[in-house]
Amino acid sequence: PELFLPERVNSKGFDLKHQPTLDAIEAARAPFATHRWSAAPVLAAKAEPEEARRVDNPADPADTPGTVAHASAKDIETALSKAEKWDAPVAERAEVLGKIADLYEENYGEIFAILHREAGKSQPDAVAELREAVDFLRYYGANAPEGEAVGTFTCISPWNFPLAIFTGQIAAALAAGNAVLSKPAEQTPIIAHFAVGLMHKAGVPKSALQLLPGGGEVGAALTSDARVGGVAFTGSTATAMKIRSAMAKHLAPGAPLIAETGGMNCMIVDSTALPEQAVQAIIESAFQSAGQRCSALRCLYVQEDIAEEFTRMLTGAMEALVIGKPWDLSTDCGPVIDETARAGIAEHIQKARAEGRLIHELKTPNSGTYVAPTLIKVNSVGELEREIFGPVLHMATFGATELDTVIEEINSTGYGLTFGLMTRIDDRVQYVTERVMVGNIYVNRNQIGAIVGSQPFGGEGLSGTGPKAGGPHYLARFCAHPAPEAGE
Ligand code: GLU
Repeated sequence: PELFLPERVNSKGFDLKHQPTLDAIEAARAPFATHRWSAAPVLAAKAEPEEARRVDNPADPADTPGTVAHASAKDIETALSKAEKWDAPVAERAEVLGKIADLYEENYGEIFAILHREAGKSQPDAVAELREAVDFLRYYGANAPEGEAVGTFTCISPWNFPLAIFTGQIAAALAAGNAVLSKPAEQTPIIAHFAVGLMHKAGVPKSALQLLPGGGEVGAALTSDARVGGVAFTGSTATAMKIRSAMAKHLAPGAPLIAETGGMNCMIVDSTALPEQAVQAIIESAFQSAGQRCSALRCLYVQEDIAEEFTRMLTGAMEALVIGKPWDLSTDCGPVIDETARAGIAEHIQKARAEGRLIHELKTPNSGTYVAPTLIKVNSVGELEREIFGPVLHMATFGATELDTVIEEINSTGYGLTFGLMTRIDDRVQYVTERVMVGNIYVNRNQIGAIVGSQPFGGEGLSGTGPKAGGPHYLARFCAHPAPEAGE
């Protein structure tokens, strides 16, 4: 199949080095600096949401971005019984998805403000997030399939891309004509509520898109009801496994599960790599978004003959990172999502400290759920007991004859999401990339930030079911009988 859209057009984004652009962003988001939003179920019939609870700002315990009312058991039943496939013609669905993209772009100020205050997203992360969301809408809209829809799709999205992945799942399911029951991450209901408002405004019928904020109990109900035809999920591997078994018990045989889960992503830097380029790629891959990307670099392998000098350069570059408030333009690294996340990561760092394996750590701000970028020594990726979802990089060294051992260690994790290679030996690029079993491989660049339409994103093994998001095979999984040209 054609890998690229014939007329691929990605969203342009913003030039954050251009002062008039920065002024415009400031003016657009300023009215929302202290605004309080409220999120609640949005259903095709009257909702009876539970009492409103506070939504937190991870960077600032004194700030309240708003409140959320979770979906009640009654709301879930209403949503399931009122869901109806979106039977508009393909061209109309595509047009509406395009309109949503336009509305997202028009509302960038409010979207950035919500992403800063509810999700702790830095300014560059918020810009990237909006761009990716818009790209998903346009890409799936432009490729909207003729095939028959599955029926009702449950979409369960994560807090780390609370707009982009939230939108991508929904846009794909809607492009194929399904009804969508959407359960956003518990930590980020406001951006979800705002986005669904724009989707309905653009013309998606309420019966085809309903929002059910809440925690695991809402997700469980929406993945164990025979009226659900398929599930799209992004989150932890453990939750994906629970969903898989709930679906096996309660849904029709063969109901599709599209899961994007965790990673134990590695990078190999050999002694021919350009050190400045490698350091920059590592800093971005490990610490951008405070390491809260499933694509993020977790374990770096550096060839031992350059390791000492390289570590000095890397820790120097870490020192230059600004850990600050998401709203401030100078911030490189914002908070992690909540106190549970912070405490779990801090425990991991503490253990490494006690074992004398801490190579470098930065200072943590004293309010908000921050974890400062940290570098920890390991012997191999196999020592990581779990995915540490934060700004913590592990580093191992390898000898000139140990490349195969390293590849074996990487493949033995069972995960297979992203991998980076920094080398100037062409044969080695081929040798390594043929053997490392992951979804997305990046050579001589960072290993995050896959671009819709040109870098389809997704993993294998414990990292996900495929097909890759933002690629040509994704939409077919949302169809019961894909039209032949949309198929694999
Ligand atoms: N697609 C994102 C990237 O390439 C990661 C998605 C995720 O963290 O779930 O960085």
